[in-house]
Amino acid sequence: MTNKKADYFLLFSNCVVVRGAKRSTIYDLQFERYKNIPNLLADVLGHSVDLPIKSIKLIYNDEYSAGIDSYLNLLAEERFGTFYHSIVNFIKLPLDWKYPGELTNCVIEVEGKPKFDLRKVFKELDDLNCHSVQFWFLKKVKSVDIESLLEPLSNSRIRNVELVIPYNNYFSRQFIESFSEKHPRVRRIVFTECYKKLVKFDIVQVIIESTKMETIELTRKFNNSPSAFRVSLGMFTESQEHNTFFNKKISIDRNGLIKNFPTMTKSFGHINEISFSDAINNSEFKKFWSLKKDNIVGCKNCEFRFMCSGQFAHPSANISELIECQYDPLQLKWN
Ligand code: SF4
Repeated sequence: MTNKKADYFLLFSNCVVVRGAKRSTIYDLQFERYKNIPNLLADVLGHSVDLPIKSIKLIYNDEYSAGIDSYLNLLAEERFGTFYHSIVNFIKLPLDWKYPGELTNCVIEVEGKPKFDLRKVFKELDDLNCHSVQFWFLKKVKSVDIESLLEPLSNSRIRNVELVIPYNNYFSRQFIESFSEKHPRVRRIVFTECYKKLVKFDIVQVIIESTKMETIELTRKFNNSPSAFRVSLGMFTESQEHNTFFNKKISIDRNGLIKNFPTMTKSFGHINEISFSDAINNSEFKKFWSLKKDNIVGCKNCEFRFMCSGQFAHPSANISELIECQYDPLQLKWN
């Protein structure tokens, strides 16, 4: 039952409603979880910032009063909000996003021995305050080759490394455990072409995909699925004004060409001939950084748009029209 003595209900300030075409979602930016809700409840929560529950019910001529009570009780039980006697002095969560550096993440395609100097790459990333690197191994590799790629990282400030790598039989439980102890910067390993079940590991997150290591398929699958959704204050605030896939990202493709993303055709020069700084100072390079989901035709009505970094690395200039996503926010269905 609704708390009889309390006149108001408010979501906690870390819980924010994002409206979609057919339903809405509450993003809990502190506890990094989400809950889908009907749009009618989103409207009720919108009114709740300045109206008592009684007045909100009257807006609907008391038609939904029992439903409103039961939903508000549920949200209180699940710790998304609570009942109050008064709602003066509540402040909204500031949604500014700032990052003290030029880049946040770098994707490096690896096919055989890299055709560029990785020490130079990591040094430049350090200088630009980039904290994350993702290696995509296009072919199966020996463990010694992974080690030699990671070795130059030992003196860098890069703190987050992800490996996307075709599964090989030597990736036993013991191997992964000792590898992740030795390389604590490696926070996530995605095994592709893997049909085995692997146990959970304490230090590193391991994800298994049966997908073949074909770049386009990979990007679509990894970025546009609920398992890739990330509810966080950083992601939410960044996505208000930026495209969280492209923003502050740089890539080096298998041939050493600097791009926004390896699958894109536009290159900004070879890493042996041009610095990252010069590449990102090219105005074309930042073209998609501000392409927020609210401006992408297929995404602007999606309730997941501030937790999804689904990407659109399509060579077409009409990028805001293109969407390579299996989710249909109008049907609420994954195709
Ligand atoms: S429609 Fe857009 S925002 Fe929604 S899940 Fe797909 S890519 Fe992400």
